Amino acid sequence: MAGVPDAVVKAFDRRGGRALMLGHVHPDADVLGTLLALGAALEGRGWRVIYGGPHAPPASLAFLPGIERYEVLDRIEDGFDVAVLTDCPNPERTEGRLEAARRAARTIVDIDHHPDNRLYGDVNWIDVTAAATGEMIYRLLGALGLPLTPAIATNLLTAIHTDTGSFRYSNVTPETLRIAADLVQAGAEPAAISSALYERRTPDALRLLADTLGRVELSADGRIAWLALPAGLVPDHFVESEELVNYPRSIASVQVACLLREHGGRVKVSLRGKGAVDLTRVAARFGGGGHANAAGCTLPGPLAAATSQVLGAVREALPAAARGA
Ligand code: 5GP
Ligand code: MN
Repeated sequence: MAGVPDAVVKAFDRRGGRALMLGHVHPDADVLGTLLALGAALEGRGWRVIYGGPHAPPASLAFLPGIERYEVLDRIEDGFDVAVLTDCPNPERTEGRLEAARRAARTIVDIDHHPDNRLYGDVNWIDVTAAATGEMIYRLLGALGLPLTPAIATNLLTAIHTDTGSFRYSNVTPETLRIAADLVQAGAEPAAISSALYERRTPDALRLLADTLGRVELSADGRIAWLALPAGLVPDHFVESEELVNYPRSIASVQVACLLREHGGRVKVSLRGKGAVDLTRVAARFGGGGHANAAGCTLPGPLAAATSQVLGAVREALPAAARGA
C-alpha cells in the first residue's frame, strides 16, 4: 500500500468546488459506493456534486445512502472543477461520457485498482494492491481530513464487501480488515449490509436459481466449470442480482469458473479464478480485462460458439498439468 499521491489530494483539497462523479457501465457496489462516499464527503466541505454514468444502478444496491442522486447521464453540463472516475480501467467503459467530461471539467481524476488501467486521467492513482477502490477512497478521505459519516462508511464498506466476496477472496489483506474495522467503528453495519446484499431474494428467485444451476457443467478434469445462459431463459433482474458465477466457482476442484450470458446477440462473460491462471490475460484475448482472479469480456454470439472459444482459451491458459478437460 502506497500513500495517496499529492496530486490526488490537491485536486480535492479546497472548499466549494464542483465535481462530477462519473460511473462506468453496469455500475457495481465498488464504483457506486466510492463515488457516493467521496461525493458526500466533498459536499460536507461545500462542494456541489453531480453523480451519474451510462447506466442506472441495479435495484439490489438501492440501499446505498445517496443512490437516488445517481443519474443516467445522456449529456454532461459544463463547469466542473473535477470529474472523478473510480474503478474504471478504460475510457470505453464510460460509453463516451469520459470524452464529454473532458470538455466539461478542468481535471479528470482516475482512481482505480485494476492492473490494466489505461491512465486516461490528468491525475491517475492506481493501486493494484487495494482489494477494492473503496480502500483507496477511505485513504483519500483520511488524507483530506474529511470525516467518515455512517452514510460514507456504509458506502465504502459495501464497496469492499462486494469486491472481496464478503472478505473471502485472496485480495483481502490486513489493511482491508483494518479499514473495514474503522468503517464499522464509523457507523457502517455489517449485518445490515450483508442482509441487504444477500437476503433480499423473492421466492421465485429460488425457483429460477434451481432451474439455472442445473445447467452448470464441469470439465472432465474438474478444473473448469461453466454456466451458459441462453437469451430470455431468465429475467435480466435475476442475473443482475445474483452472482451466478459463484456457484460453478464453489466446486472444490474448480480453478476457473465462467458465466456466459447471451443478451442482444452478444455474450457477456464473467471469469473467476482461484490463483492458477491470470484471467486478465484470458479476458484480454477477447478485448476485456479485470483482475487476475475476476475478469470479464464480451464476445459475439451465438452462445455455443462463444462458450467453446472461451473454454478453449481457459484450457490453454491453465498450467499443463491441469489440461485435458
Ligand atoms: P464481472 O464479471 O463482475 O462483470 O467483472 C469482473 C471484473 O472484470 C471487474 O473488475 C470488471 O471491471 C472486469 N470486466 C468485466 N467485463 C469487462 C470488460 O468487458 N472489459 C474490461 N476491461 N473489464 C471487464
Ligand atoms: Mn473494484
